[in-house]
Amino acid sequence: MTNYVLRQGLVHSASSQEIADVLIVDGKIAQIAKKIDAPSGTVEIDTKDCWVGPGFVDIHTHLREPGREEAETIESGALAALMGGYTAIVAMPNTEPALDNVALVSYVLDKGARTPIDVAVAGAITQGRKGELLAPMAEMAELGVRLFTDDGTGVQSPSLMRRALSYAKPLGVTLAQHCEDEDLAGGGSMNEGEYSAKLGLIGRPALAEELMLLRDLELVKLTGAKMHFLHMSTQNSIALITAAKKAGLPVTFEIAPHHFTLDESACSDFDALFKVHPPLRTKADVASLRDALRDGLVDAVATDHAPHAPELKDLAFDEAPAGMLGLEHAASLTVDAIGDANSSRFFEVMSRGPARIAQLRHSDVRIRHSAQGGDLVVGEDANLVVFDPSAKYVVDRDQLHSRSTNTPYHGRELRGKARVTIAKGRAFNEQGEIA
Ligand SMILES: [Zn+2]
Repeated sequence: MTNYVLRQGLVHSASSQEIADVLIVDGKIAQIAKKIDAPSGTVEIDTKDCWVGPGFVDIHTHLREPGREEAETIESGALAALMGGYTAIVAMPNTEPALDNVALVSYVLDKGARTPIDVAVAGAITQGRKGELLAPMAEMAELGVRLFTDDGTGVQSPSLMRRALSYAKPLGVTLAQHCEDEDLAGGGSMNEGEYSAKLGLIGRPALAEELMLLRDLELVKLTGAKMHFLHMSTQNSIALITAAKKAGLPVTFEIAPHHFTLDESACSDFDALFKVHPPLRTKADVASLRDALRDGLVDAVATDHAPHAPELKDLAFDEAPAGMLGLEHAASLTVDAIGDANSSRFFEVMSRGPARIAQLRHSDVRIRHSAQGGDLVVGEDANLVVFDPSAKYVVDRDQLHSRSTNTPYHGRELRGKARVTIAKGRAFNEQGEIA
């Protein structure tokens, strides 16, 4: 293995930030000091004016393998993640077929292990994500799966969700919910409100999200099982879940960059690139999500990276599939929302928080992953990112590493970029592996 020394970056350990060198030997952090005399043969990486911190962890990535490899494969999604500064992702189970059994989970884990980063898998809660019968969660948990979700949609039946929580609790796994009551969402394609009325599109009301959140908070209270809430998008959702956490419920939540960057007005041109579930909300919701990030209320930023082939996104707004790309720009959008002065919070929501939720902080041989979201101490697996907070660039959808191009940020100038990602001890930049 190549050994590296990272020179003079602002190193973000769990408790402090200081300018230092970091020596990486045999895939592990070997030394952190003001000035390191590196052994000969060590590759030097200049990290001046950059933040050096734990590699990002995305707990909400849609890879499209198996089933829709024209949109994304495990390999192409892992590369997009690597270039976005991620050293681990959790692949969501809404593939075709759904990841609802040991054979399919193993398939994704095997392929994931051959990429430069760690690819964990979330298993489905119900068979085929149909919301009718529970999937064999215990068998998948035996394989190392720690998160279960029917994401794409939520588990609609309260009694089934109650049973799923009771089943999950003794397994030590976490259920993750896509909160939208489909009956209330009523087949809508954007946020219900002033804009949907003006555009003549059926809306998905904020209440569709909040009602399922309320229901599930009560089910957590009843069962005592842990739960994670995916892509919370409204001011009221944040208030409800923050109150539940204060009351001691074992719940966590994530927000997605598009929900704290874009609002419903983006749908005005009927461009399906801006269609996503839950939908882009009001300006007031966007402001409250940004406040929550700055105030340290948010457990994780998660991308909901959802590649779709171009011909699908060219369909009419109400017919096109929901979802947009996220992995390659999430860090820039998060710095923009949190601000440069709060870089420790940035690493908390981008890396340490999500690694805790997905139980990826310690290495696990069963699912072949190394330790993620680290404290940056000697002896730790080298999963690191060198992030330049002042690098400016213009998003070009034709320059992405994802196999798809459905980014809503094409042509937008962003600031903050992963210069180097060190995943499982190997360093990569835009040009490829540094050796
Ligand atoms: Zn979802």
